[in-house]
Amino acid sequence: MGKLNAWLLTLSLLCFSGLAFRPDAPPDVTLINGKIFTSNAKQPYVEALAIRGDRILAIGNSAEVKALAGPQTKQIDLAGRTVIPGINDAHNHLELKPTNQVDVAMGENVDPSWSDAKAAIASAAQKSPANSLLVAEIGSSIFRDVSVNRDSLDKLAPANPLELVTFTGHAIILNSAGLKFFKIHEDQPDPLGGRFERDSNGRLTGVVREYAGIDIGRTIEDEVPDQAAVAQLRATLDQAAKWGITSIQDMSNGIAPARAVALLEKVPTPIRIRVMRMPTTTPAGRDIQEGLGMPRNPTSLITVSGTKWMTDGVPIELTFTPRDKIKMPAAPPFDGAVAYLPLTFSETEIAAMLKESLQNNDQLMLHISGYPAAKAVLDAMDATGGKAVWSSRRLRFEHGDGAYPDLVERIKAYAIVVVQNPSHFMALAGAGESPFVKAQPVKSLLAAGIPVALGSDGPTNPFLNILFATIHANHPSEAITREQAVAAYTLTSAYAEFAEKEKGSLEPGKFADLAVLSQDIFTVPPPELPKTQSVLTLVGGKVVYDAHVLKAN
Ligand SMILES: [Zn+2]
Repeated sequence: MGKLNAWLLTLSLLCFSGLAFRPDAPPDVTLINGKIFTSNAKQPYVEALAIRGDRILAIGNSAEVKALAGPQTKQIDLAGRTVIPGINDAHNHLELKPTNQVDVAMGENVDPSWSDAKAAIASAAQKSPANSLLVAEIGSSIFRDVSVNRDSLDKLAPANPLELVTFTGHAIILNSAGLKFFKIHEDQPDPLGGRFERDSNGRLTGVVREYAGIDIGRTIEDEVPDQAAVAQLRATLDQAAKWGITSIQDMSNGIAPARAVALLEKVPTPIRIRVMRMPTTTPAGRDIQEGLGMPRNPTSLITVSGTKWMTDGVPIELTFTPRDKIKMPAAPPFDGAVAYLPLTFSETEIAAMLKESLQNNDQLMLHISGYPAAKAVLDAMDATGGKAVWSSRRLRFEHGDGAYPDLVERIKAYAIVVVQNPSHFMALAGAGESPFVKAQPVKSLLAAGIPVALGSDGPTNPFLNILFATIHANHPSEAITREQAVAAYTLTSAYAEFAEKEKGSLEPGKFADLAVLSQDIFTVPPPELPKTQSVLTLVGGKVVYDAHVLKAN
């Protein structure tokens, strides 16, 4: 490029960037006298920050930032409060609830007993109108009890459709009215990667596994009317903003991408949403067309990119293992469940997912819980070009529980991003089972230089999840520090969506996406963490939540 061309290019870039090309213009807002955690390891804490337009203009100490202010600059005194980059929930499922759904009150225990559940279900069935869909969340105790099936559920709820869903979401048990409600008939064929279980006579038992359950979940969310859907999403996203969440990466199994975008535009979403394709399957195969070719940035806050498939299930249900054959080790090592978790899709199908990702130049997210799935994907990456092809593509392992130490070197070589979900570290501990010995690594992956992002995939409260990440009940030696958890939940989550140059840390030039917090999450006692709220949340410099406790001039 000649000098003149280079000069013209520079000039046009400067003109194009508009606001950025006013080095002497004062900030619109300054935040001073705070404890600002930047997520930037080179300068982790600063006192003050200046914002102009939608970007961070400067960071530094309060005197330096104050000096930038002009007559119109709004100055906010943080009075020592803690500020973090806005949380980026890298693995969330935006959900719609059918308007006729009644949640059965199952108490606090994530793994309720069958006798407690029976009483709760019978009482809900008696009190609810005949057309309401009863939904009860269950744990492994009830799921592994083979006496819990369509027939026993019919006795408790003869008229209402009833759905028992395991807390992982990977299995459902329906009564007869539920089978009818979801239009599952006796000779219903299994979708690829899913199963309607049958007894030895070929009769449906009511147990629905993996993609068969995802597919029926989609069916009922599709039927939620737009007006109700918009109201539900608005409530969800307003709550997210109150928690200081400024970005959500949505796995669109519940709401198909095109509808998700249309609804989010109607809300309109106050925070940034990335909609990732998570298509369903049919007996004929995976739906590889859904959402393909949609505009990548339908609005400035919405992005559509990436595709997710579930390579295996979850250890709790030893997915696809018939319920009467599930046997968990009574004592450590519990890892048996992760070490032998069967694959949901064949190796051929996994190879096809990788090829589609390359063909469509589309980031691939794979649900990887067990060791065999992690290994099968790494082998398929070997077979489709290895490091040369994959090292720039940021393939994601969602969960990555079975990323055992012997796989770490390959995971690093292929530049895989692991997206972990801290609530999963507590699930088994909560269910009274033995901890994993080798599974669910976090700290050791970070030490190996593997990017680890965080997502909720469970309770959305990010401060509850930070608590879980810093305890790691299943595998305490893999617990991380609060600073590491916040960096993973912000900067690395942005990296996991190729957006780390725009957001994820508080540095000049990046979007002013941040949260001023109600308390210092780096020093409060652990039980206090989940009570944290944002008192001021900004997305691109714009206020999306304000508790009106900060003083401004
Ligand atoms: Zn998930």
